Amino acid sequence: MTASLLISGAGIAGLSAALALSRAGVRVDVLERSPDLSTEGAGVQLGPNVTRILRSWGLQDGLNAMAFFPQHLCAHDARDGRIMGQAALASAAQRYGAPHVCIHRADLQTLLWQAAQAQPHVHWHWGQTLQDVKQDAGLVSVCSAAGQSWQADGLVVADGIGSALRRSLFGDGAATPTGHLALRALLPMADVPAVWRTGNVHVWMGEHFHVVHYPVRAGQWLNLVLVRHRPDMAMAQDQWSLHSDGAWAQQAVSHSCSALRDLVGAVAQWRYWMLADRAPLGSAQEMAVGRIALMGDAAHPMRPYLAQGAGMAIEDAAALHWAWQTQGNLGVCAAWQAMAHSRWQRVAQVQKQSRRNGRIFHSTGLLRWGRNVALQTWGPDLMDPSWLYGGGPMPMA
Ligand SMILES: Cc1cc2nc3c(=O)[nH]c(=O)nc-3n(C[C@H](O)[C@H](O)[C@H](O)COP(=O)(O)OP(=O)(O)OC[C@H]3O[C@@H](n4cnc5c(N)ncnc54)[C@H](O)[C@@H]3O)c2cc1C
Repeated sequence: MTASLLISGAGIAGLSAALALSRAGVRVDVLERSPDLSTEGAGVQLGPNVTRILRSWGLQDGLNAMAFFPQHLCAHDARDGRIMGQAALASAAQRYGAPHVCIHRADLQTLLWQAAQAQPHVHWHWGQTLQDVKQDAGLVSVCSAAGQSWQADGLVVADGIGSALRRSLFGDGAATPTGHLALRALLPMADVPAVWRTGNVHVWMGEHFHVVHYPVRAGQWLNLVLVRHRPDMAMAQDQWSLHSDGAWAQQAVSHSCSALRDLVGAVAQWRYWMLADRAPLGSAQEMAVGRIALMGDAAHPMRPYLAQGAGMAIEDAAALHWAWQTQGNLGVCAAWQAMAHSRWQRVAQVQKQSRRNGRIFHSTGLLRWGRNVALQTWGPDLMDPSWLYGGGPMPMA
């Protein structure tokens, strides 16, 4: 009999897992609380470690049509605007065998969903808010807030940073607020000051804040993210994507160079929320418990300062596929153990580096001076982490 798996959540993690596991011939039921596929969100960058996997899933044409392929990564000091370091992104394909792309989250979700839809064994259950999970020697079962239940041989928990199933499993509470406020905006390219209509990813490092911007949607829109310290601001974890006018963003860059002030000033509406994370993974047990695997933000929420949260979710899905193909004949528990053992140390390294980047991006005084010297001296190497872009699970056919 063919194995059956449940997946909680149809975000980037859940959709990737549905696609990867259905390609391995497994029956998959995806349970998602939203009534349909979410088109919320803004841009994400995906490094070669991630696009290598997407290409192996047949998504290259979709990426070509929807994504933006940047030329360079430019790191600026926000105070005077000068470029401290630069890395070539366009040549990533030569170095790592796959490109660096910028894509709107909704476009990525659509690509993954369409590809999963085309597989024969994927079943979608929209509008199902899961709240509890149980397992025994033979099966795993989940139940929804409405009292409906599902059973299968295995479960992949992919319901994001606020995961109800993780809470039910580990009882370890909510992710920890970082005291960092993220503001995001999308600007039609026609409204962007001409000087910033570049084909690059720009990072501006300020004191207690940073700004990242890059084109998405084949270059038609500019995605902007501004992160600033606001430890005084308490927000409930379910409050996300609230609206803000330009005042908070403009205040953050008020001591910056005029180029950055002009760019931030061109945005009238931002959406904001408080960032949260968890301590870096400490063992494989945090990604696999019996018949249950955890992936994406449900397993390892991270700060976005290495631009790898969605990337690690996609890598997790590729590792699930690999584990299923190589260990699935020994059963679900063995496959999930293999996946977790192959993943946890790499993910922990990414979580740690993400935290470190935040400290470097926002630094002041001597640390800021040291950062600028290091970027001027070794920029291309520091900004092109080969352990990250050259590593990760090798895609399965
Ligand atoms: C400012 C910012 C910038 C970022 N930039 C990048 C970047 O450049 N590159 C990158 O790789 N990553 C980036 N990330 C990180 C990335 O967005 C996340 O890591 C990624 O979206 C996590 O995907 P996920 O599927 O695990 O979680 P989610 O996207 O949160 O998906 C979870 C899904 O589960 C559903 N769900 C929730 N609860 C339940 C329930 N009880 N029952 C059923 N369904 C449920 C939700 O509706 C949702 O569809 C960024 C994050 C932020 C905040």
